[in-house]
Amino acid sequence: MTSEATRHVMQANKSKNTKPELLVRARLREAGYTGYRLHWKKAPGKPDICFPGRRVAIFVNGCFWHRCPHCALPLPKSNVEFWKAKFERNRERDSRDNALLVQDGWTVIVVWECMLKKERLEPTMQEVLRELDRASGDAPRVPRVVEIGSLSPWKLRRERQKLRSRYVLR
Ligand SMILES: [Zn+2]
Repeated sequence: MTSEATRHVMQANKSKNTKPELLVRARLREAGYTGYRLHWKKAPGKPDICFPGRRVAIFVNGCFWHRCPHCALPLPKSNVEFWKAKFERNRERDSRDNALLVQDGWTVIVVWECMLKKERLEPTMQEVLRELDRASGDAPRVPRVVEIGSLSPWKLRRERQKLRSRYVLR
């Protein structure tokens, strides 16, 4: 049996092209949003997915490594100091990259892994596509960081109701 921490370390070894990343990429392709670049070196932070033309960068963040605010996962029980320092560095790097991208005129979309779970996938991808459309429209836009899934509570309730009725009707 491998411990929780070991499992996470093993996962970190393939932090590129993770399952959640692949899922988002597949959904983008399905919706006809092609022409993105993966881990593009010319953009600060080498975003997981980016659309240079639209100046949209997408980060698909693992909840454990990037300390998802929705999941608030507990720290591993051993080597606590090590993990704390590591997570702190991850968080600093994330906010620095986001700031650099926004300064450079990019819209940054952050997708947390947990937002891609079965029941959240649909509204999450809708939100991503909406942001992509917005970024490529003619209207002037303000570069910013968009956290997918941080919808206002009433919007969330509405989305849930929609989903629920869809599943009940089937
Ligand atoms: Zn999460």
